[in-house]
Amino acid sequence: MIIFGVRGVTSGRKNGEFFCPGCNEHRRFAHKRVRRFFTLYFIPVIPMDLLAEYVECQSCRRKYNKDVLSFDPESQRKKIEAEFYRTVKRVMLEMMVADLQIHAAEVESIRQTFAQLTTIELSSEEIRAEAEHVRNESSSLEEILSELAPCLNERAKEIMIRAALIVAMADRAIEEREQALLGRIGQALGMSSAHIRGVLSALLHSESEKENGEPRAG
Ligand SMILES: [Zn+2]
Repeated sequence: MIIFGVRGVTSGRKNGEFFCPGCNEHRRFAHKRVRRFFTLYFIPVIPMDLLAEYVECQSCRRKYNKDVLSFDPESQRKKIEAEFYRTVKRVMLEMMVADLQIHAAEVESIRQTFAQLTTIELSSEEIRAEAEHVRNESSSLEEILSELAPCLNERAKEIMIRAALIVAMADRAIEEREQALLGRIGQALGMSSAHIRGVLSALLHSESEKENGEPRAG
């Protein structure tokens, strides 16, 4: 009796080093292919169609599409960083226009905060011009923040909320509209209101130290 059939045979194509998104590290990989074979007496003899092709991390054994080999964590990091600063600016602009009036003190607080974070000096005119467009943006602030939030650590989220608070406090007290916006920003970032209050009290503390002329901690 002749026994024949088909079965998938996995073969290694090549090995090397890649950035494993699972390990968040450079690791060894194996690039593998699973091909269907025609078998005779359970021995694969004739190669048939390709069933699967994947890249396997040799540390965590996760399997990825072969496109993972062209993933560049450094360019990804730079992209997220640029998006982060763009969003910080958007948050501050939205906070400035939240009370329907643009105060010179708010413009100045945006200019200073953005320069401290990025070393990019915006002019007051640029800030006022961008504020005009903020209402006509196609995607809402919440959408942008929710999309960005998973890429941000706690520190980055605190920087974002702190920037919003600085602008909210620039004119006088934090008004109702500004409070509501702060709540929406915090929610989109996945921050609790206790966390936001913590950032606020740290900010107030550093402000009062500045006014008293005492050296700032940290
Ligand atoms: Zn891995």
